[in-house]
Amino acid sequence: MFNSKKYIFLIVSILMLFSSCNLKNRFYDDINENILKIHFINVGQGDSTLLQFNNKNLLIDSGPLNSFENTIKYLKKLKVKQLDYVIATHPHEDHIGAMSEIIKTFEVKKFYAPKVTSNTDYFYNMIKELKKSNIKINIAKDQIKLPFDAKIKCVFLSPNSSNYTNLNNYSAVLKITYGRCNFLFTGDAESLVEQEILDKRYNISCQVLKLGHHGSSTSTCDQFLEKTSPNVAIASCGKNNIFNHPNKKTLQKLAEKGVKLYRTDIDGTIVLVCNGSNIKKSN
Ligand SMILES: [Zn+2]
Repeated sequence: MFNSKKYIFLIVSILMLFSSCNLKNRFYDDINENILKIHFINVGQGDSTLLQFNNKNLLIDSGPLNSFENTIKYLKKLKVKQLDYVIATHPHEDHIGAMSEIIKTFEVKKFYAPKVTSNTDYFYNMIKELKKSNIKINIAKDQIKLPFDAKIKCVFLSPNSSNYTNLNNYSAVLKITYGRCNFLFTGDAESLVEQEILDKRYNISCQVLKLGHHGSSTSTCDQFLEKTSPNVAIASCGKNNIFNHPNKKTLQKLAEKGVKLYRTDIDGTIVLVCNGSNIKKSN
């Protein structure tokens, strides 16, 4: 009697072990598991970047209003229903113009923005939609951590001050670390902010740098490029834009350093995938 009980117990244990193995295999078969995907969405002249990790979505900027339909279409194609985190880097139209439409369309869980206002319709529309949806603004500033995922470190490196004269310099600068891989998202932060970040002696070395201010000459100063020393740089800009972004001098500096450049005006939407050890362009 004792022995037969023991056998049954043994068989049940083996069956349980098999079923848990199957479950485990299915778990690891899912190629998206623990893969960080970064979509630099082609929004014309502007910025909008989606980060996805283990079914969570983080959107940095919405792009301008004139591209909102395409941006929303792109997010819907990815089956995005909810944006767990949204960052409005600074209140310029090319970064927050489509934000009210984004908030209307997707469920936004947590919203971050620097403590600065703008006397414009698109800024008021964004605030109106946030209020309607009862979403409060978390202040983005130096050293604030964004709890995206336990496996990924997200920390703001800027703004460092509350009285910049140029709105670009209020840009929320975000550093993301996944395993051995580092990414820097700089909004439109200009050299003044880059110098502030350098002065703080943060470790800003990264594989991927989203160039500040669409690759304008006002950003990516020599020392900042030296310290970040990226393998890949991204310029988010519109085709034949009137600002001549990215700037020729910036392109030259990147070429001299052997940095691979991708541009949304030439490459369209750029998708990078990262497993914590390597980064690949997936499209
Ligand atoms: Zn901009």
